[in-house]
Amino acid sequence: MRQKLLLGNWKMNKTPSEAKAFALASKDMVEYAVAHHIQVGVAPSFVCLATVKENAPKDCIVAAQNVNEHDHGAYTGEVSIPMLKEIGIDWVILGHSERRAYNGETSEACNAKIKALLANHMTPVYCCGESLDVFEKGETKKFVAEQIRTGLADLTPEEAKQVVIAYEPIWAIGTGKSASKEIAEDTIGFIRRTLRESFGAVAMDMRILYGGSVKPNNIASYMSAEDIDGALVGGASLDPASFQGLIDGMLQK
Ligand code: PEP
Repeated sequence: MRQKLLLGNWKMNKTPSEAKAFALASKDMVEYAVAHHIQVGVAPSFVCLATVKENAPKDCIVAAQNVNEHDHGAYTGEVSIPMLKEIGIDWVILGHSERRAYNGETSEACNAKIKALLANHMTPVYCCGESLDVFEKGETKKFVAEQIRTGLADLTPEEAKQVVIAYEPIWAIGTGKSASKEIAEDTIGFIRRTLRESFGAVAMDMRILYGGSVKPNNIASYMSAEDIDGALVGGASLDPASFQGLIDGMLQK
């Protein structure tokens, strides 16, 4: 059975002291989530990772929002896998639409990073999702299938199984305009079938999250869809009370 997962993407929000305050406040809600078989975590900015790791309960996943595939070298401004590992970080979000749009992150680049993470026994959370233009042209499936095939190219089924997928339609991110449960369910079901074509039966064990304006008051509807295993949440993950509301909503379905 696939464990439910709630992951907060803090983007470029929170200073280290603000991130530490959240981590300290998260003890009860992380325990509550774990007691209800929900895995939870947050993805702070690089400068906040160490303090969140030190101050959050050990069951709280702490994920980076990016990583470089090289172990070290002349890559100014980049952060490597050994740097993350030394401070206990073993989850990384890759291919977020904001990084694709503003930092030129491609599915090919994500593929190299995913391979490097898997070689280091770390968990990639690979994001995919279409623009409004692609959605309106009815080309979502073609577009997302290409992102999935390229991002996960050359992985073995055993490797693919370690990857978490997040389907995030760009038109729903930070816009308050969430995809309907039906749209999310339809695309995520399609993603699972695409994974099945490439990796066989392990596709049924892979976790696929929905992301895009998920809030405490709409998360339950996504969780009621069989193929949706949780959520990647931006804005509504920043405040501990709202994060608790997301956990409560996940349990309502
Ligand atoms: C995200 O950043 O991945 C996201 C889904 O943001 P929001 O929940 O704010 O739409």
